[in-house]
Amino acid sequence: METPLANRLSSKKVRHIELATGSGPVVVVPTLHQRLSTLHEISIRLDDAVSFDRILEIMRSETRWLIEHQACFMALINRTRTHYVVHSLSSVTDAADLHQKHFFTDEGVAGAVMSSRTATRTDTRSAENSGPAIEGRLLDLGIKSLLAVPMHAGAETTGCLIFGRAHSAAYSLEDAGIAQQFADHCSMLIRNCSIIEDAGKRISQIELINEVSHQLSAMLHVDELLRGAAESIRETFHYFDVTVFLLNEDRTELLLEAHSGNFSDFLPHGYRQKVGHGIVGWVAENDEEILCNDVSADPRYIVHEYHNTKSELALPIRVDGQLAGVLNVEDAKLHAFDETDGVVLETLCDQLGSALKNARLYEEIQEANIRLIELDKVKTEFLGIVSHDFRSPLSSIILAGRALLKNEEVRRIQRVKDYLQIIVDQANKLNQLAEDTLSITKMESGELTYHFKVVNVIRLIQDAISMVRMSSRHTIAFEVDPTVTFIKADPAKLRQVVQNLIGNAVKYSPRGGKISVKASDYSPKEMLLSVSDQGIGIPAEKVDLLFQKYARVDSGEGNQIKGAGLGLWICKAVVEAHGGNIWIESGASKGTTIKFTVKKVQ
Ligand code: ATP
Ligand code: MG
Repeated sequence: METPLANRLSSKKVRHIELATGSGPVVVVPTLHQRLSTLHEISIRLDDAVSFDRILEIMRSETRWLIEHQACFMALINRTRTHYVVHSLSSVTDAADLHQKHFFTDEGVAGAVMSSRTATRTDTRSAENSGPAIEGRLLDLGIKSLLAVPMHAGAETTGCLIFGRAHSAAYSLEDAGIAQQFADHCSMLIRNCSIIEDAGKRISQIELINEVSHQLSAMLHVDELLRGAAESIRETFHYFDVTVFLLNEDRTELLLEAHSGNFSDFLPHGYRQKVGHGIVGWVAENDEEILCNDVSADPRYIVHEYHNTKSELALPIRVDGQLAGVLNVEDAKLHAFDETDGVVLETLCDQLGSALKNARLYEEIQEANIRLIELDKVKTEFLGIVSHDFRSPLSSIILAGRALLKNEEVRRIQRVKDYLQIIVDQANKLNQLAEDTLSITKMESGELTYHFKVVNVIRLIQDAISMVRMSSRHTIAFEVDPTVTFIKADPAKLRQVVQNLIGNAVKYSPRGGKISVKASDYSPKEMLLSVSDQGIGIPAEKVDLLFQKYARVDSGEGNQIKGAGLGLWICKAVVEAHGGNIWIESGASKGTTIKFTVKKVQ
């Protein structure tokens, strides 16, 4: 165990002692030289201290070797220089209950010494600024004379060191000189320590701010975000009570949206505070922060029946520079906050503001999405009904038209025959469109069901060709590898795929162009079907996009040709439902081949 400093240094240190002898009291007074060497030793000891608490400990145990006293305390000015805090360094000042008490900077002997920046040797009762709160208490405990020296660190006054003794006029000029040197040395060390401690605190605060910001940025719902913010700010920074208010739409009231802490029973979710009322209302009205370390002295504070708030720190939360709410932190202790809390919470309010903006945007997008999905459902249902109802009248028109075209009398009148052919062609196109639309609506609503069976691919291709009327200038050939005649498919839907591909080949190639449909072996389990033309081709960069809904090549010749951009999308969906793949092999003006695979019958 470490030997107490006093014992280890006692050979050198000489204390002012009064000895009682038979011939009356003998006073042992240390020489100035002895006192300076004691000061030197204590200063060396202090230089090793690495924390404020350690400096206080050494001051408390060692000052009595330097300046005789019964009472001793240090007053340190706070950062905002509005108050000083007393640090008791003796049992008498402990008993006077002065430790950790806050006083205004101009109060008491300490206040006078700090403002004049000169030492005072005075009588407790008659001292300048002497008041009941400090000097009165010391007097009650028998302290009659005081020595108060200002503490300097460079040009700045950081506080005051005060000694008290039980008899009057106890301190000499020499005492004042020694005390001054000691006070200045302590002041420098305390300032250095606080710089180091501050830097350490800042680093850990930055880490904590980052941690909280990270958590906030991951929260996408406003409720969850505000609750999360109140919780994590309180837990991470060990605050007593944290609330988050948001402004209502007409900006007249603040609504309590989230609460975490010891007062949450008294201020429930949904609690309202008028803008302009109370501390939180003042912050909203003025868009300015309030740091109040004694709410009882602030006229803006509204006393709550069950509350025992003593300190309050409230800051504006802004979204895009405009006030959106208030973050409020309270404590049941006086002087609970300093400006570092202000800086930390300001940074967090900025983060909260941008997280709030993101969460609001996200919620708006979600709502818009839900509305769009609903609209799309209504549209799909409507299209389904319309296209379904189109099909039977169209089938009747086509059947009647075809029957008339076979009629000998009709065939004899060329103009009637031509017009009839137009009617049948256009009705066929409409029918195709109605079928495509119906397929799409069923695909989108998940109602499209497939009925797989063994299908002869030759029949399937022939059917598809007969459904697409060839212009007299297009020739179409088909070729099927005899080893792969049978496939497993839903015949109506796969026929629609081939039909769409032949339809495109006709549409996007000039008259006289050759179209060829082929079915060949592809892999042990798959057959390959392809439709080729000698038409306008597709630019290489577009081929991957054309299977998307409504996608079309929007330049050049293809632009003149009308279409909905749905055919290939349907083909892909049907082919994939058959377990196959579909792709385009083309290049501008090289003609186009579209291929797809389908399962063979094993
Ligand atoms: P519809 O929905 O009536 O079929 P569409 O033919 O425009 O309209 P898709 O069949 O999906 O739609 O074809 C998409 C686009 O791909 C076409 O607009 C066209 O630009 C291009 N395309 C498709 N097939 C060919 C082809 N054989 N030759 C050249 N371009 C083609
Ligand atoms: Mg098409």
